[in-house]
Order: sequence, then structure tokens, then C-alpha cells
Amino acid sequence: MRPEVPVEELTWAAYRIPTDAPEADGTYAWDATTMVVVHARAGGQVGLGWTYGAAAGGLLVDEVLGRNVTGRDALDVTGAYHAMHRSVRNLGRPGVAATAISAVDIALWDLKARLLGVRLARLLGAVHETVPVYGSGGFTSYDERHLASQLGGWVDGQGIPRVKIKIGESWGHEVGRDLSRIAQAREVIGDDAELYVDANGGYTRKQAIRVAHRMAPYDVAWFEEPVSSDDLAGLREVRDAVEPDVTAGEYGWDLPYFQRMCAAGAVDCLQVDASRCGGITEWVRAAAVAAAHNLDVSAHCAPHLHLDAALATPNLRHLEWFHDHVRIESMLLSGTVGADGGELRPDLTAPGHGLTFKDSDAQPYRIG
Ligand SMILES: [Mg+2]
Repeated sequence: MRPEVPVEELTWAAYRIPTDAPEADGTYAWDATTMVVVHARAGGQVGLGWTYGAAAGGLLVDEVLGRNVTGRDALDVTGAYHAMHRSVRNLGRPGVAATAISAVDIALWDLKARLLGVRLARLLGAVHETVPVYGSGGFTSYDERHLASQLGGWVDGQGIPRVKIKIGESWGHEVGRDLSRIAQAREVIGDDAELYVDANGGYTRKQAIRVAHRMAPYDVAWFEEPVSSDDLAGLREVRDAVEPDVTAGEYGWDLPYFQRMCAAGAVDCLQVDASRCGGITEWVRAAAVAAAHNLDVSAHCAPHLHLDAALATPNLRHLEWFHDHVRIESMLLSGTVGADGGELRPDLTAPGHGLTFKDSDAQPYRIG
């Protein structure tokens, strides 16, 4: 029998990384991204997890989550996850707490795989050898030249056959510009690549349906958050009325959220973000909920954080190759993979998720 290997400690740090240009979508604008990094240690191995959220998540690791994880057998990730879930009952799980749980859960899964000397995807049970991606950016803050160079770089430069741009500018008050940017995007990527749009909840129900009809000439395949993802009946109404797949789920903080969204018939593809929903433990369960509703899942942002879980998800559609996070992960992680040809093909012989954090490179961005 293998002896128990207790988790010795959790440590965290937060980094604020400026964007390479001002970024905005239909309902929000930003100029920096905060990454909260967690390391978990046991038996001479170190697991790495992270989330994109607020540094406050790190304080929760110290004050609340750590005491539920340290001392526990490092192989008992599911037990640690549920202990963390119970520990935030009185704090409220959605939001900061869920991001902190996510970062710790991912660090623990990486640690477990390293202790066992296997790739995390193989530990989870890989069903795919590669993961398809779509290029994601196309911010409303970009001018025509910037949009063209980004989309052209993905499709012509890297051979990624699907891309997504932001629409719903100014809470749906710039529909003319939305449509002209959709037209430009189709022009840039040609007839063969798939074109996706994301309104980030910027439209009203009827407005979203009208916009979908006006974008028909541009063969849009994916209409993300045409209305608020809290408006499940609205998503369903739009879904029933438009040609593209209607998608949402990026603000799912726990399993009941995904169950409600699927049961409402609100989406054609469920988006799940393991850096928000509770890490890989909850990702796997959310994907199962989607599968039970005959739906695919798509990984929202944080591409390297999702890669191993995506390889182990039978009903995976693809993973979001999000400009900000691709840039940050390639800057601050070693072991990253490229998306040439439109798919990620990791080295399955590397232990854990194969990634380590470049501590010294990250120091200039440290905020906590
Ligand atoms: Mg989105």
C-alpha cells in the first residue's frame, strides 16, 4: 500500500499584467488582467494552479481554504474540493471564493498527477489526443487595422479555422458598427473559416434577434451571450429565433448554475470556465451535466489551464484561444503549447499539466 502524502502547504501570489492595447467588449473595458497563482506542495512535488480574478482570492486561500487542504492526503483532491466548498458557505461561493477554490483545485490536480508521475490528462482519462481551439479577441476597442491583423494572424498565419469577435458595443447602442465589424471580419478571414460573435449580454431580446437576422449574410456560426446570461428565458427566446448556435456559461460559479442553464434550453453549447467554476473537479461535473442534456461544452478562456481537462472531456467542442490569456500564459509559464493548425497537441509524457510558473519573469507584475 502506498502511504498517504499529506499536503504540506499552499502558497499564493497575485500579478497584474497590463494588456498590450486597451480592450473592451459590449459591456466592459479593461487595461490589465490579474492572475492569482497557487502552489501546493507534498512529497517533494509542487502543483501549480491559477485563476484570472482578484488578488482577494489569495487572502481566502490563507484565511479559509488552506486549513481545509493542508494535512489532507494529496491524492484526495475530491475530498479537498468538497471541504473547500463547505468552508465558504457563509461567505458566498460565487465570485472571489469560487476563483480561489478553482486555483487551489487545479494546483491539487497537478500535484496529484506529479506525485503519480503521469500526465494530468491521462490521470483524468484522456479521450482526445488534441484539442481544437478558436482564436478569440476582436475587441470593440480595436480599429480596423488592428482587427484585420489579429484575425488574419490566426486564420492565415496560424491556420486556426475559427475566430470570435466582440459585438454589442456600448450595451447595444452601436449596432451599425457591430455589423460593419462583422462584415470586415468575414472579409478578412475568407469564406472557409468559422466566424463567432460575443455580445457579452449587451443586447435586449428582440434587438439580439434583429441583429442575428442582419448578420445572416456573414454566416455567423456562434452567437455568445446575445442577452444577459442571467436571462435564461431570453437566451431560449433568441436561441429559438436565430440561425447561429447560442452559447453562454462563462459566469457559472457552481454546478447548479450549469444545471439551470441546460435545463432551461438556454444554450446550444455550454461554456464552462474551470478558473471560475471550481477547477477541474467542477469542470468534469459540469461537462457531465451538459452531456446529459446532449450538449457540447467549450472551455472559456485560460487555455492552458483547461487543456488537460479538455483532453478528458468526451463532449468537448473546443477551447477559447483568448488573446489576453494566451499572451500572459506564454509570458509567465514554461511548457506552453502553440495553436498552429487550430489545435493543441500537448506532450503527454510530461508529468502533471506540464507547466511551471516563471517566478522571476513575473516579479515586475507582482501586487500581492
Ligand atoms: Mg464571452
